[in-house]
Amino acid sequence: MTMPLHGHCLCGAVKFTATPKSMIMDVCHCSMCRRWSGGTFMGVDCGGSVKVEDESALGVYHSSDWGERCFCRNCGTTLFWRMRQGPPHVVVAAQAFDDVSRFSFDLEIFIEEQPPNYAFANKTKRMTGAEFIASVTKK
Ligand SMILES: [Zn+2]
Ligand SMILES: [Zn+2]
Repeated sequence: MTMPLHGHCLCGAVKFTATPKSMIMDVCHCSMCRRWSGGTFMGVDCGGSVKVEDESALGVYHSSDWGERCFCRNCGTTLFWRMRQGPPHVVVAAQAFDDVSRFSFDLEIFIEEQPPNYAFANKTKRMTGAEFIASVTKK
């Protein structure tokens, strides 16, 4: 059993708690995540467990028919990717948690969109977008 973990944005206007489904952090190389996060998006799947202290501080951008991206309206910190429909499914930006070192970095996704000018040295499982989507939709 994992306990709710605490996190916040750069300015502190958004404070949240979330209970990760597992202590695994994945990296998404897709072009939208890279543009949105200014790097690669390091995410932790937190299911429906995310609780935000002050929802009014949260900006929401509908980035596709199925997903939306949440950020702090004041400081712009990248915070959550979440499903717009279906059961609550929120992927929290790993770096927004207070203690990032607890997560293991085991998975890279959308590798077909990874630019050739960087690579992580971690030993990870690498999946294409199609492989990743198939793996999450079949359970
Ligand atoms: Zn903020
Ligand atoms: Zn992505």
